[in-house]
Order: sequence, then C-alpha cells, then structure tokens
Amino acid sequence: MTAPTPRVFSGVQPTGNLHLGNYLGAIVRFVELQRAYECLYCVVDLHAVTVWQEPAELTRNTREVTAAFLAAGIDPEKHIVFNQSQVPQHAELAWIFNCVARLGWLSRMTQFKEKAGKDREAASVGLYAYPNLMAADILVYRATHVPVGEDQKQHLELARDIAQKFNNDFAASISAAGYADGFFPLPEPLITGPATRVMSLRDGTKKMSKSEPSDLSRINLTDDADTIAKKIRKAKTDAEPLPGERQGLAGRPEADNLVGIYAALKGETVEDTLGDFGGKQFSTFKQALAEVAVARLGPIGGEMSRLLADPGHIDRILGDGAARARALAEPVYDEVKRIMGFVRG
Ligand code: ATP
Ligand code: MG
Repeated sequence: MTAPTPRVFSGVQPTGNLHLGNYLGAIVRFVELQRAYECLYCVVDLHAVTVWQEPAELTRNTREVTAAFLAAGIDPEKHIVFNQSQVPQHAELAWIFNCVARLGWLSRMTQFKEKAGKDREAASVGLYAYPNLMAADILVYRATHVPVGEDQKQHLELARDIAQKFNNDFAASISAAGYADGFFPLPEPLITGPATRVMSLRDGTKKMSKSEPSDLSRINLTDDADTIAKKIRKAKTDAEPLPGERQGLAGRPEADNLVGIYAALKGETVEDTLGDFGGKQFSTFKQALAEVAVARLGPIGGEMSRLLADPGHIDRILGDGAARARALAEPVYDEVKRIMGFVRG
C-alpha cells in the first residue's frame, strides 16, 4: 500500500429533519468536491444510535439522507454513497481508536457536553466515544479532506490527533511496513460551505439542528413553500431595521443569521445583501428571504419525495456503495492489524 491519495470523506447522521444548515454547511460542498476528488459520502447510522432512535424511523431517515444526497447532485456511480453500518471496518477501527485516544481528549468535546446535557451519567458510552468513531470513518479510507460545518471542527482536530498519535506510537512498525511518512494522513477539515454555521430561527445563539425539538427552529429540506414562508415569518428578530454595513450586525445574532442565510442562498456576499436591504424592515427582507429559500430548496424537496417513493432503489444504491467502500476499507484495516501485531489468518 502506498501513500494516501487525495480523497474526500464526510457523513450526515440519519437523525431526522435534514435542514438548511446541513445543506449550506455541508452538502453544497459535497457536490462541488466531486469535480476534483474521489469522494465517499456516508449516512452515519452508527453515530445516530448514540442517542435513542426508533428502528422504523432510523430506516426512514437513512433513506431520506440518501435521497437528499442524490437530489442535491451527488453522483452515486462516480462516487460512493453508503450507510456506515454496512461497512464493519468503521466500528472495528473505532475500537482501536478507543485505545489510542485519551479520556482527557474526549472530555473536552463540546458536542458531548451539549448533547449529554445536565445528566451526564445517563448519556450513552457511545455518545462519549463518538469522536473516535468519526476519526475511524475518515481514516479507514485514509481520507485526506473532510468537508463539514463549523460545529465539527473540534472533532476533526481530534481525528488529526488520533492519526498523529497512531503514527507516533507505531512509528517503528509503520516504517518497517514500508511507509515513509506515517500510515494515516492528518485529515484536513474543509469548513468552507456557503454558510458554515447556520443558527436556529428561534435563537440566534444556538445552531440549527436536526435533533432540536421545535420544528420552527429550522427549515427542513422537505418543507413545502408555505411552511418555509411561515417559519421565516415567525423567525425571531429584533426591532431595528437592517443595517447597511456588516459591523451593524454585531450583537444582533438573529439579524446576522438571516442575512447570512440570504447571502448564502443567493450566492452573494453579506455586503451585497446589506447593500440591497440596509435600512429596510424585517417584514420586507423576510419576504425576499422566503422567495430565495423556496426557489433553492423547492426542487430538492420535490426530487427527494420522488426518490423516496422507491425505497428499493435507494437501498440498492446504499448496498452497492457499501460493497465498494468495503473494498477500500478492508485492506486499510488489515494493514492496521499488521502494524499493531495482530495475528492474521
Ligand atoms: P444532530 O442534531 O442530530 O447532531 P445535525 O443537524 O448536527 O444533527 P449532523 O448529521 O450532525 O447534523 O451533521 C451533518 C453535517 O451538517 C456536518 O458536516 C455538520 O457540521 C453540518 N451542520 C450541522 N448543523 C449545521 C449548521 N447549523 N450549520 C452549518 N452546518 C451544519
Ligand atoms: Mg450534529
């Protein structure tokens, strides 16, 4: 096995309502990266079950994320689209990484603190170990680039620390196996979506999330035009008109968020948007925002429902992608076992 080739890996959890943040923070970049890289896009179902998932919902949500990938323009023939649980090497390498990562590293992860909430003792062990599985997802393909939203930055840094520690701990064995520059690449985060941190429509200081109970907090990719317009109308704002300059958004998280969303959807800069709407009331701006959101998301939602009408087709795409992913992951994991000294048949 030679040095890692440039390769993109990223995942989305089948935890329910895919939203505008997932789209602008991650999926838009997934689509663009197909032009320059070999890409693997994974529905990370093993991550989803770190918090309770109703089995029938998990199945439905897995197909929904897949449909969103396809509807957004990911090509499952040129690239690989699959669900994580069909490739056992993710979980196997995660175990190895459970033994590489340190408790202290994981204790610093803000996602765990946020998701576990006050009753940490009641959180699943999986929720705590989640970043180790995420590192395995990436490194089992020796992937080099990982497009994600801002909220995943800390986990990506941990994945790099794990790769580095593995390379150091087993340096002698790795170089004896013929690798000049370590075995795992240090994966690079690509936090470059049109909006890397989309906030809740109800609270401009909290990120938009699939798992947030209030549906008014987010715009789902499957929302129809009326629902999108209603959610934007109800979105929290302040009493001032929009500022004409970027500095005027400081200390106004809701205004900042809505302007950022508009600019990202239009493919323009925040300065452009403020140039058009500076001095205007939110009522006017919200109407324009609803129009661009519907224009951009409507076709994706429509294509998703068309695809979801044939679950067999989606399952075949996932099965085919998983077989191709396994063919990449098996030899990498086998090398890990050789490097670590496990006896292999
Ligand atoms: P959950 O609440 O279940 O964690 P989520 O909305 O955070 O769901 P994930 O499946 O965890 O979605 O993340 C999928 C991708 O979307 C990741 O790359 C993540 O960084 C990105 N992402 C999630 N929320 C946002 C957001 N509000 N803004 C920008 N990117 C986001
Ligand atoms: Mg998340």
